[in-house]
Amino acid sequence: MYRPALSVVIPCYNEAACLELLHARVAAAARAAVGDDHEIVLINDGSRDDSWAVMQRLSAADPRLVAINLSRNHGHQLALTAGLDLCSGEQILIIDADLQDPPELLADMRATMAAQQADVVYAVRRKREGETIFKKATAAAFYRVLDRVTDTPIPLDTGDFRLMSRRALDALLSLPEQARFIRGMVAWVGFRQVPFPYDRAERHAGETNYPLGKMVRLAFDAVTGFSTAPLRFASHASVILAGASLLLLFYILWGFFEGSPVQGWTSTMLVVTVLSAAQMFVLGMIGEYLGRLYIESKRRPLYLVADIAGPVKGHSTLGFNAAEPSPEFEVPAERKAAE
Ligand code: UDP
Ligand code: MG
Repeated sequence: MYRPALSVVIPCYNEAACLELLHARVAAAARAAVGDDHEIVLINDGSRDDSWAVMQRLSAADPRLVAINLSRNHGHQLALTAGLDLCSGEQILIIDADLQDPPELLADMRATMAAQQADVVYAVRRKREGETIFKKATAAAFYRVLDRVTDTPIPLDTGDFRLMSRRALDALLSLPEQARFIRGMVAWVGFRQVPFPYDRAERHAGETNYPLGKMVRLAFDAVTGFSTAPLRFASHASVILAGASLLLLFYILWGFFEGSPVQGWTSTMLVVTVLSAAQMFVLGMIGEYLGRLYIESKRRPLYLVADIAGPVKGHSTLGFNAAEPSPEFEVPAERKAAE
């Protein structure tokens, strides 16, 4: 199979206002790095604006641009999975559509990859322009909590912006799970991975597609995908509670023999509310893992492709591709003879 030297993979959701400039800057950076031997893979993740129309127009003008239209919104991580699955380059650059990650860093990232003989060069955010204090604070807290609970060391303050080698990508694509926290999964596959510090720019246009709800979901996917620590919470808490209940027992018996057994609305309520909250927490955690187990057990395709514009070279292994030409129907020999 023919592989271009570079694939740039870009998931897009409601990014019509960014696409033109995005394409120009990415194409210029790719051309500067590898000449014409590249492909740009745009994934339309069920946008509600006219992103798909713009993509089709761009792909008609640039033979190196492949536009993939998913059947509906699948979410950032699955849209990215679709692009990674269908791209075919020797090196793969993952980048956001909103130009927060400057495509011009490609040259330096390739140089770092070559100099350090790395399989993954992941971009670490030094500064984040134009994002709310809330977003920066929650993101910073999230990466630090994640680092404490997971067994896989996942780099801090790192998004999906990164350059990967083909063998690292193939390793990543061998992981079949539905709940995908890609930056963690890349860390998990290993090989040689090196950081690349950069300053994150402001969004070119539009606004964030990661409101609080989606961030929380990603955080749950990250924690449950890489750690079973929350499941151990119950056993750890039970040790502490056993100690506390022993003390309480002595206190109650002491009160009984002192002759004042009926007392303690406050303490009773305290015990009841604290313990039921703790039980609910543990139940919720078990539910999170159980729900994920259920979803994984259905083994549904990770993404559904409706249309493709441009010369896609890869084959989908993780998704369902309605745009792929079906293999030619072979007429059986006996029927041919009869006709
Ligand atoms: N994105 C996507 N599907 C979604 C949400 C986001 O493909 O459901 C894409 C989006 O177009 C962008 C990237 O994921 O290229 C990151 O999203 P965004 O810039 O909104 O997140 P932020 O940078 O604010 O964390
Ligand atoms: Mg962004």
